[in-house]
Amino acid sequence: MSKNIEKELLKNNIIGKELFTSEDIKNKIFELGKQITVDYKYRDLLVVSILRGGVIFLSDLIKEIDLPLSIDFMSISSYGFNGASTGVVRITKDLDESIEGRDVLIVEDIIDTGLTISYLLRNLKSRYPRSIDICTLLNRDIRRIADIDIKYAGFRIGEKYIVGYGLDYKQKFRNLKSIYELKLDTVKKDIESLKNSSSI
Ligand code: 5GP
Repeated sequence: MSKNIEKELLKNNIIGKELFTSEDIKNKIFELGKQITVDYKYRDLLVVSILRGGVIFLSDLIKEIDLPLSIDFMSISSYGFNGASTGVVRITKDLDESIEGRDVLIVEDIIDTGLTISYLLRNLKSRYPRSIDICTLLNRDIRRIADIDIKYAGFRIGEKYIVGYGLDYKQKFRNLKSIYELKLDTVKKDIESLKNSSSI
């Protein structure tokens, strides 16, 4: 998405503070990639991403990992309650590859309560990978419920709902280049005014 549209969203108070610029994200991914390259030398690395939000992060991250590797994808739907994660997850698209005996790195955009990833970990561990670890770009550890061990974490964030760089609100904003706070009140009002308008 062009910077002009991001400016327009800022002006209309739909997105708020720019928390991480595309440059911040690029630098962080470079560091993560360098560390993963060291840690996974001589191993059979399979990078797994969870559709859809994690895909943008995965595609930039793997380019910074200087090793042979494979990628695979899973899709899940979470049974949330009022937008909150419950950790009850249904796999809607499973991996295409077998992970038995392989070194799996799960790449996530954000880990919040940790309930979703802890369900996935339990599921994937039962398939006998040689190792399984987590890499998340964003870590909201203040809301953590599940006891999980995150091997690679990019940025720590606070309570505010964020969008951009793969992260959505109702499937929108994933293509913003930076990561922003979402002005939820404005967005909700927008949706209400649309509902009340005669055009829909
Ligand atoms: P968890 O099970 O860790 O609570 O939830 C993780 C999932 O919730 C993430 O993969 C993401 O889809 C969604 N999520 C949690 N916090 C945010 C946020 O601030 N912004 C967006 N866009 N999604 C979030």
